[in-house]
Amino acid sequence: MSAALIDGKAFAAGLRDTVGTYAAAFEAKAGRKAGLAVVLVGEDPASEIYVRSKGKATEAAGMNSWEYRLPADASEATLLAKVVELNADPAVDGILVQLPLPRGLDDQKVIDTIDPDKDVDGFHIVNAGRLAVGQDGFVPCTPLGCVMLLKDTLGDMSGLEAVVIGRSNIVGRPMARLLADENCTVTVAHSRTRDLPEVVHRADIVVAAVGQPEMVKGDWIKPGATVIDVGINRVGAVGEVKRLVGDVEFSSASKVAGAITPVPGGVGPMTIAVLLRNTLVSAYRREGIELPK
Ligand code: NDP
Repeated sequence: MSAALIDGKAFAAGLRDTVGTYAAAFEAKAGRKAGLAVVLVGEDPASEIYVRSKGKATEAAGMNSWEYRLPADASEATLLAKVVELNADPAVDGILVQLPLPRGLDDQKVIDTIDPDKDVDGFHIVNAGRLAVGQDGFVPCTPLGCVMLLKDTLGDMSGLEAVVIGRSNIVGRPMARLLADENCTVTVAHSRTRDLPEVVHRADIVVAAVGQPEMVKGDWIKPGATVIDVGINRVGAVGEVKRLVGDVEFSSASKVAGAITPVPGGVGPMTIAVLLRNTLVSAYRREGIELPK
């Protein structure tokens, strides 16, 4: 391996510490804690784990955490009523509805019921629009975390060629926009892209958000490029212990890249840390207290 390892776990720990410091300052000024409410519908095991770790991290940063559980067969009206109640609750700065929702519930309709100024996941159509036109709003946590790691690794990214593989609303699209805002020349690749290896080979920055285990190979990567692997894929034969791999083949890519995120320990830990940061930003804004620089 010749690439430098981008240690997202350590960076995220630092960010959580900073959030903790400013959460305490917020409490001293506002006379209340910042708070995040998470709504979980159904009993999907992966979602349960995510919700539990979000709750623990929120409390560890000195903020209030509330968890609301609805049964898998909850009606849309019940779920929307819960969201409306949280919108009106002055103690709640951030609302997150854990996705995916059980079949029969419309993810986007539920998200769009959240007050955009409490939408700390940044998935509300108003926040997507704000990002698209360059206004302040909430930016989805995973791509914002990727940009933080890139800035920390590369500093000024002006003029660099960036290729984002994936165009989902939660990762690929906002990622491309954020990189354009950093003055990168951005190409968005997807399942219909012709000659993906050749497209990736142009890039100084590669962000892989595909959901295909180890799809991006080392010989696709331009020597010295910075590789951000967003993928989280569980692989292993039936009955075997599953292991986590990214969308990039780490063994070959790490021999060619200049810097690369591992999976696990790269982008993954950034997502929750940025969620805490967005919640605290919401709290400061809602109380009209100036944000620390
Ligand atoms: P989606 O399935 O919503 O989007 C995948 C994207 O990849 C689509 O745009 C699709 O193209 C594209 N794609 C699929 N197959 C190929 C292919 N063979 N060649 C080129 N492009 C392809 O996934 P998400 O964006 O939600 O997630 C992507 C990955 O990131 C997943 O592994 C997920 O687990 C992980 N993830 C990790 C997070 C974290 O915290 N680290 C958070 C969120 C996601 P098209 O549009 O043409 O269909």
